[in-house]
Amino acid sequence: MTRIAVVEGDGIGHEVIPVARRVLELLHPEYDYFDVDVGYGRWERTGCPCTDPDITLLKTADAILFGAITTPPMKDYQSVVLRMRKALDLYANLRPIRGDSFDIMIVRENTEGLYSGIEEVTPDRATTLRVVSRKGTVRIVRTAIRLARARGGLLTIGHKANVIKSDVFFRDICIAEAKAAVVPFNDKFIDALSLDLLQHPKNYCVIVTTNMFGDILSDVAAYLVGGLGLVPSANIGNRHALFEPVHGSAPDIAGKNIANPIAAIRSAAMMLDYLGDSTGSRRIEKAIGRVVSAGVCTRDLCGSAGTKEFGDAVLACLEKPE
Ligand code: NAD
Repeated sequence: MTRIAVVEGDGIGHEVIPVARRVLELLHPEYDYFDVDVGYGRWERTGCPCTDPDITLLKTADAILFGAITTPPMKDYQSVVLRMRKALDLYANLRPIRGDSFDIMIVRENTEGLYSGIEEVTPDRATTLRVVSRKGTVRIVRTAIRLARARGGLLTIGHKANVIKSDVFFRDICIAEAKAAVVPFNDKFIDALSLDLLQHPKNYCVIVTTNMFGDILSDVAAYLVGGLGLVPSANIGNRHALFEPVHGSAPDIAGKNIANPIAAIRSAAMMLDYLGDSTGSRRIEKAIGRVVSAGVCTRDLCGSAGTKEFGDAVLACLEKPE
């Protein structure tokens, strides 16, 4: 039986993930869904945000539906998100940005770079080690090459090789792999790429980049599609997979039933694609499109529907025969 771990996490995770779960449960009542409670809320209640047995339990899932976790800026608090990505080796973070005239996939390395977690803070200096390994670069660029081939489009390598040595290393390995695979490619400095992506989104198909650049670039690119409430993501490794909205726990709007659940629902659609149900995935995307076209939208899209009410409309649409 297909086992789905559901991690609501913190903040609006408690609002958008139940909507996405209801969508999955409607299309796949036969899956076994189980909750895993990790995050800042858990830390506040128990003093521990995530235990080894939690990680072991997550590893038993065929796929994980994940909300978002609040990471307080405290010296001794270990980021649960980083821990999970490393423990499950979820090295490829895929963030699709789709509009009427463009269809872009941002492929972000997810386990090293500036999020290596190798850090030292002294009274006079704080250091974070930016790790770019050959193994990490080869596997992320090969993922991006596969996607570029499948889409028949250009691979763009985003880096800052004019300044950072570890990015010369990243760029050169990516170029060598792209040449060997005979895929069309170009490479751009990440700062110029960020602006050009907003000005000429049609020129992009698959973008591969390092961890933090990919994190920032995808938030920037969310501008093209109406904001963070719309962008889903997949975190894929060789053995595990986790699906989550790109946005965080949004404490400023949590508990108000105003968060947009589209990113979470789309993350569920990406999960179905991964599990082999591309028809279900397409049905979800179509239902979201129909509901939005009918004028049912949350506040971020200038509508007045609540999180739950938007979810009800998507479910009603999915229940109708096509
Ligand atoms: P955020 O993405 O939570 O919010 C940024 C802005 O976008 C806020 O104004 C918020 O209201 C808005 N927004 C986000 N999602 C929305 C939605 N679905 N509908 C409508 N508006 C939405 O980023 P932040 O404020 O920088 O971070 C808040 C917390 O989330 C921090 O503790 C951060 O560490 C955490 N975070 C977690 C993850 C994760 O768990 N993967 C990712 C990013 C941030």
